[in-house]
Amino acid sequence: MSLIDQTAVELLSNLTSGNLTSVELTGAFLDEIERRDGAVKAFLHVDADAAMAQADEIDRNRTAGKPAGRLAGMPVAVKDLLCTVDVPTTCASRMLENFCPPYDATVVARLKAADAVLIGRTNMDEFAMGGSCENSAFHPTHNPWDMDRIPGGSSGGAAACVAARMAPLSIGSDTGGSIRSPAAMCGVTGMKPTYGRVSRYGLVAFASSLDQLGPIAQTAEDTALLLEVIAGHDLMDSTSVDRPVPKYTETIGRLLEGLRIGIVPEHFGDALDDEVDAAVRESIRVYESLGATVKNISLPHGKYAVAAYYIIAPCEASGNLARYDGVHYGRRTDEHDSLIGMYSRSRSEGFGPEVKRRIMLGTYALSSGYYDAYYLKALKVRRLIRQDFDRAFDQVDLIVGPVAPTPAFKIGEKADDPLSMYLFDLYTVGTNLAGICGISIPCGISGAGLPIGLHLQAPTFEEERLLRAAAMFQRATDWHTRKPSPV
Ligand code: GLN
Repeated sequence: MSLIDQTAVELLSNLTSGNLTSVELTGAFLDEIERRDGAVKAFLHVDADAAMAQADEIDRNRTAGKPAGRLAGMPVAVKDLLCTVDVPTTCASRMLENFCPPYDATVVARLKAADAVLIGRTNMDEFAMGGSCENSAFHPTHNPWDMDRIPGGSSGGAAACVAARMAPLSIGSDTGGSIRSPAAMCGVTGMKPTYGRVSRYGLVAFASSLDQLGPIAQTAEDTALLLEVIAGHDLMDSTSVDRPVPKYTETIGRLLEGLRIGIVPEHFGDALDDEVDAAVRESIRVYESLGATVKNISLPHGKYAVAAYYIIAPCEASGNLARYDGVHYGRRTDEHDSLIGMYSRSRSEGFGPEVKRRIMLGTYALSSGYYDAYYLKALKVRRLIRQDFDRAFDQVDLIVGPVAPTPAFKIGEKADDPLSMYLFDLYTVGTNLAGICGISIPCGISGAGLPIGLHLQAPTFEEERLLRAAAMFQRATDWHTRKPSPV
């Protein structure tokens, strides 16, 4: 097996034992980026010299016997919305095209402290608004399984680079499905941790009550490894929760005895593609063969999740994005003859169409006279959705279903139809509204050769359960080992 095809856990053991240097490993992934990323376009920024210098320093420290961090020498790609000192952090927006932050996001600081090599910045929908990576102001990313198709979004570059083996691990963010959906489209494993499990400090905000950072990797074990490094309390983020981080990598091999799985019959309705339906049902049978029991559960307010999400997320976004006025932050227009004119031209030039749509939706829903009818109502629905999950988790340990209604669609297919794009999120937004955790794992390949994802959801702070369940599945199947053919 070639170097870059190994899992992060395998690579780490080779690095630790001295079989492999970080310079060799980082060089191999950089070569693959060089070879493949012209077509896939997963990255927005790769500084090969900086990555090699970091790798070399880590190797030298190891040779000198200095203590090595948890990920010493391991390349990790980072979605382009995590502030990183002196590295462009654009959020795939013209607005932040020239922004180089003066500080590190906590997740970046933790990766650096773990001696990871920051190999590059991955493409995304502008400000994480979208589900296809087509809303990047710079270029779309292509799905490595079929270059005419979307890689999912908004963390499309983060999932595509792992699928195409241009990085062993990557960091994404998930506000309504943006880790899980691209993981499903690209045939990799991606987890949205519980709200508060991972610090959001230095994450450029989209919708602050929903945003959460998480790992994307080839396997459940690799996901556990990365989560262990990035999770945990942070004084710089008051919404991060002060709870110990379990040793996910140590417990992941343990079987979950007597696992009770819940399925939501409405998730298998008309919206669901037949091949996805069949793959998910077959996966549930795999769990049954491993001793799980399955029962139908009800999430009665689930049908309102997309509507509530597309009020709450734009409302929060309209506030968060108010700071980009060309003065405090962001691009400033060259042409203006008044202060108001400068604000308005800077914002018109800096934001793309989807971001403008969200700002207008949010501003409208928050405006006087509509606030109660839209925003407050959506918050009440959110509470009911959370209660549905609480009740469901009294009866089952995991909720299992599809991640997305279909495999990856064609680039351009939904570009003029925001509503159908929004409906693509119907299975994932509930997790964020409820603040619980979810993971997408590969569970099939469609007739057209496209990966299909299986969605597991668990109660708050039960990431360990998700990872053990995902690992159980991956020991029994080989979908996670399938790779797109190299181009
Ligand atoms: N597709 C969803 C949206 O467009 C989710 C995005 C996300 O999770 N960042 O808002």
